[in-house]
Amino acid sequence: MKDFSTVLVAVDFSDSSDNAFQMALAMAIRFSARLLVLHVINEPVDLRGFYVPHISFEKLEEEIEEGAKKMMESFCRRNLTTFENFECLIVPGLPYEQIIQQAEEKSADLIVLGTHGRTGLDHVLFGSTAEKVVRKSPVPVLTVRLEEDSA
Ligand code: AMP
Repeated sequence: MKDFSTVLVAVDFSDSSDNAFQMALAMAIRFSARLLVLHVINEPVDLRGFYVPHISFEKLEEEIEEGAKKMMESFCRRNLTTFENFECLIVPGLPYEQIIQQAEEKSADLIVLGTHGRTGLDHVLFGSTAEKVVRKSPVPVLTVRLEEDSA
């Protein structure tokens, strides 16, 4: 059986990704693997000077990044009390693209993610991160569904 030496878990701080995280942690412990905890700051493409050319969003971006770092720190403090072989990553971009790119760059053997995210948007209309990662990733993907999910 193949060993997993690096497991990447994608977290958006939703109940679904918290649940997926617990599965990823259990697998990392089981395989003595390194756990990469990734959060992608959804790139606000439309805020980048197209509509209002002279306004600067650097400050806003800094604050968003600061907020994301704090959420990630608190998440790891709560969830990784005894497990030490982990790395937290925060990157901007499109979640599905970054999840795949980071997994490839960091040579992950497995991507773990929830079936649903924080927004609760209808994936038929807006596209689902989970679905795109499953369809496009060359790295094996494990999706974890929350018991009470009805969709
Ligand atoms: P979705 O397909 O968008 O409903 O989200 C499904 C799963 O993708 C979530 O449970 C997370 O595991 C992951 N995910 C979604 N958005 C992000 C994000 N911005 N950063 C990291 N992981 C994400």
